[in-house]
Amino acid sequence: MSPMQLTVIGCAGSFPGPDSPASCYLLEAEGFRVVIDFGNGSLGVLQRYAELFGLDAICLSHLHADHCVDMGAYWVARQYTPAGPRPSIPVYGPAGTAERVAGFGGESLAKVQARFAFHDLEPGPVEIGPFRITTDHVNHPVETFGFRVEHGGWRLAYSADTGESDALVRLAEGADVLLCEASFHDGPDNTPNLHLTARQAAEHAARAGVGQLVLTHLVPWNDRERSLSEASGVYGGPLALATSGLVLGPGNPAPAAR
Ligand SMILES: [Zn+2]
Repeated sequence: MSPMQLTVIGCAGSFPGPDSPASCYLLEAEGFRVVIDFGNGSLGVLQRYAELFGLDAICLSHLHADHCVDMGAYWVARQYTPAGPRPSIPVYGPAGTAERVAGFGGESLAKVQARFAFHDLEPGPVEIGPFRITTDHVNHPVETFGFRVEHGGWRLAYSADTGESDALVRLAEGADVLLCEASFHDGPDNTPNLHLTARQAAEHAARAGVGQLVLTHLVPWNDRERSLSEASGVYGGPLALATSGLVLGPGNPAPAAR
C-alpha cells in the first residue's frame, strides 16, 4: 500500500500570488489522485505534478472563485482534447456546484455534466478511492466544508475557508497535520465569521492536539513572517507555512519554521 501524499499546488489566499496559484491540493495514494479545491491558476501548476487527465476525483470545499474557478478550464481540457472527450470523473462539492462550473464558461449544464459526475457533499464520512474523507460545515458566508482525510492510519485535516469553528477542531482532532487557513493578521477590523488569523489557526491546532500545523490560504499582500510570528507561541508543535510544491505525508513533515 503506497502511503498518502498531499502536494500543495496552490496556497495563495483569495487570489493567485507571484509564487503560487490560489487554493489547490493534490492528494495521492495507491495510484489514486484527488484534487481538493481548484483555484485560479492551479490547473497550470498541477500539470507539473500530475498528468492532465490523471485525476480520479475532485473535491471542492466551497464555490468562491479562488477555490473552484479552474474547474471551468479543466472542463475545456477534458471536453476538447484532440483524443476526444474524456470520461466523466466524480466531483464532490456543495449543492449548486454543477451550475457554478457551467457558469464559468457559459456552457449548458448538460455539457458540463457529461464530463463531471457531480455529488452533493453532506456532513459525515465518504469513501473516495482509497481515502476516507469526513466533512463538516465550517464558518464561512457560503456553504463550506472542512475535510478530514484518512489513509493507512495517517490523518490530515484541511480547514477550507472559515472563521472560528468548533467543527474544524472536531475534524482536526488528533490529526497528524492540520492544513489551516490564515488569511488575516491580528487586528481590530477583521470581519468575523469569514477567515482566521494565524493566531486563531494556532488556537484551533492547539485545541485539536494536532501533530503539525501548516498555515495556508496566505493572502499575497500579507507579510508571511508576521503570520508565522503571530501563530508561534500559541501552538507548541511544529509550525510551517505552505508553499506551492510542498509535499506532506507520513514520514515527510513540512520543514518546521518555528
Ligand atoms: Zn471563501
